[in-house]
Amino acid sequence: MSASNGTTSSQITVVGGGLAGLIASIACAEGGARVVLLEAHESLGGRARSSDGPYKANFGPHVIYKGGSLWRWLDERNLIPPYAGIPLAGFRLRWEGQIRRTPPLGALPSVLRLRGRSAPVDQDFRSWAESHTDERTAAMLSLGAGVYTFHHDPGSLSAAFIWPRTVRTLLSPPPTARYLIGGWGALVGSLVARARELGVTIETGCRVTELPELPVIVATELAQARELLADDSLHWTGAHTLCLDLGLQHRRGDPFVVSDLDEAGWIERFSAPDPSLAPKGEELLQAHMPIRPGESADQAQARLERLLDALIPAWRERETWRRRQLMESRSGAVDMPGTSWQDRPAVDRGAGVFLAGDMLAAPGLLSEVSQASAVEAARLALAAAKVGVPQLRRVA
Ligand SMILES: Cc1cc2nc3c(=O)[nH]c(=O)nc-3n(C[C@H](O)[C@H](O)[C@H](O)COP(=O)(O)OP(=O)(O)OC[C@H]3O[C@@H](n4cnc5c(N)ncnc54)[C@H](O)[C@@H]3O)c2cc1C
Repeated sequence: MSASNGTTSSQITVVGGGLAGLIASIACAEGGARVVLLEAHESLGGRARSSDGPYKANFGPHVIYKGGSLWRWLDERNLIPPYAGIPLAGFRLRWEGQIRRTPPLGALPSVLRLRGRSAPVDQDFRSWAESHTDERTAAMLSLGAGVYTFHHDPGSLSAAFIWPRTVRTLLSPPPTARYLIGGWGALVGSLVARARELGVTIETGCRVTELPELPVIVATELAQARELLADDSLHWTGAHTLCLDLGLQHRRGDPFVVSDLDEAGWIERFSAPDPSLAPKGEELLQAHMPIRPGESADQAQARLERLLDALIPAWRERETWRRRQLMESRSGAVDMPGTSWQDRPAVDRGAGVFLAGDMLAAPGLLSEVSQASAVEAARLALAAAKVGVPQLRRVA
């Protein structure tokens, strides 16, 4: 895709150089605007960065979904780095305290019956699923959604939020999850290269404390946008999760994925599809456990370590590297019953100020929300830039 001939003389400023800020910058530059991107940290990518050093652990995103809006947008621009598909073996489940290699087949007919139904916005997922299946199947499906909600009780979220995402990520063969070789840092690299190629001016180590010249796209996390815009209405529900990235000495027979249908936890050995993530002879895993209300991060970690004890033999003795992260409202938006993505904070804040990020009123799964809101913010900012800056001055 080539940049347009440029009908906009105004500058658009983008605050934040994560996926949303990079995508918004590229889309604005493609629309013909002069773009300045300001990023607080020395390195770009935000949560999509991968760690430096021999273990390439992602901070946030791990899996990109083929066919989703982010995938399509990247594909149109030839920006998708090399990737791997899902290994065919090594799946485990913990359900009712037992370790299993296959899902409970008895639940299959009721899951298939549910598959064609459209789920209501106003009802919680568990009670909706119970009314069409049974209590055990509904509990199993609810906790299985821990993988993409990072929430301690996914069954309490809106049925319309959970069900289409579960069908898309877990129940639609063939699987669409893809792993970017070298981690998401590789994608950040190709976005940055494209932005520079289009002439975007990038300033790192530049924390913005006041709204810059309009029009502006604020592509930070929602809490930071709330502060920058001094707008207390910028809130949405997120999840609290403890993540452990572990380097382990290789051992034959380690699972690739563990879905914890008892406590909504998850373990994934990312070096299985992409061995380049860990030094030779070692594996790289990420395990996460949602933190329950009133629970400390250490208590959640103790539950996570019990899951590891049950599934990854001798992991403690094999450990070579560890990183612990507490993700408080940093793993995307979740919608409570009675709300949908349309009810989240709007992209357009009026008077030439636009938001992009993963907690906003835009469709999609996880970082797809950042991409969709960034594209929308860019479209609106380009239109605002054509109107001209004087008309955009904010009313105090
Ligand atoms: C554990 C975990 C697992 C996940 N797994 C997946 C997955 O498998 N697939 C998927 O698609 N998504 C996943 N996600 C979600 C994904 O990480 C995020 O949706 C995405 O990275 C958000 O990008 P962003 O650009 O909106 O925000 P960020 O990456 O947070 O970028 C915001 C940027 O703004 C900068 N900034 C903040 N304040 C200022 C300021 N005042 N001035 C200048 N710059 C500022 C920050 O430094 C940062 O670089 C996961 C998230 C987590 C936490």
